[in-house]
Amino acid sequence: MEELLEELLEECGPYTAQGRLADYIPELSKGDVNDLGIYVMRSDGKHYQAGSYNKPFTIQSVIKPILLLLALMDNGTDVVRSHVGVEATGKPFDAINVTDQQLLSDHLNPMVNMGAIAMCTLVKGRDYEERFGRLLELTRQLADNPEIEVDESVYLSEKRTGNKNRALAFLLKSSGIISDDVEEVLDCYFRACSIKVTCKDLAHISYILANRGKRLQTDERLFPSQYARYVNAVLMTCGMYDGSGDFAVKVGVPAKSGVGGGIMAIVPTRMGIGIFSPGLDSKGNSLAGIKLLELFSQRMYLSIF
Ligand code: GLN
Repeated sequence: MEELLEELLEECGPYTAQGRLADYIPELSKGDVNDLGIYVMRSDGKHYQAGSYNKPFTIQSVIKPILLLLALMDNGTDVVRSHVGVEATGKPFDAINVTDQQLLSDHLNPMVNMGAIAMCTLVKGRDYEERFGRLLELTRQLADNPEIEVDESVYLSEKRTGNKNRALAFLLKSSGIISDDVEEVLDCYFRACSIKVTCKDLAHISYILANRGKRLQTDERLFPSQYARYVNAVLMTCGMYDGSGDFAVKVGVPAKSGVGGGIMAIVPTRMGIGIFSPGLDSKGNSLAGIKLLELFSQRMYLSIF
């Protein structure tokens, strides 16, 4: 396996330069486009890694499945489903998902920005500080890493420039889908996107989703298996936004990308995979990261189809 990962990394290295850093969040443009890393955690307890697997980056949209998990744990499936829907949008992550139709919960999806902003209001807590604290704590627990923190400069950078997200949040408020203070909700969302992780952290988190809510070594259950099924199903249909169909054909497992360059891929019952490569394709997904997953999936017969 070590050899396979090194071989694939070499093969995919040239693709990194074809990607573009997410410069719409100014701080993310400081990344190194040549980075490429992978961490694989298998159900037999073995783990394998290669490249920049230990380099920290911001989680960005890979927080969305964790936010969904927390919303499910706090409210159950019926409430979450009625607030943020489950249908694939087939649209970019920041799409203003309406024409002249009235915006309804059914038009949202938890894996795109509008759905994720709405989910911040479903997390329980006295105030937004407590809500965000609970999300950070769950992320640490799933990753089995108590040291996970927020990258303050990325957080401030996005808070300063995130006007498209502000527009999406106001649209949610004007449609009555959220009722809390827009800036407070957005602050929670921006902080959530700025949580700093590594490929190893993402592999740990995705392994628990692959293992239907249980830790590997101790068998400790962190959440009910039905929530893993729910999250994985939504990831399969919308985790890579308007690239989800292509990804399903090429890789064939539930996955979530983020504009920081991270991808977490879940191979049900078999493995959790964390990938990092910050050069993005036109849909905001890691370009070399997808290529690496495609080749890895072919070689290891990972597709669930
Ligand atoms: N923080 C980013 C944004 O809201 C997350 C988007 C992403 O990772 N696709 O624009």
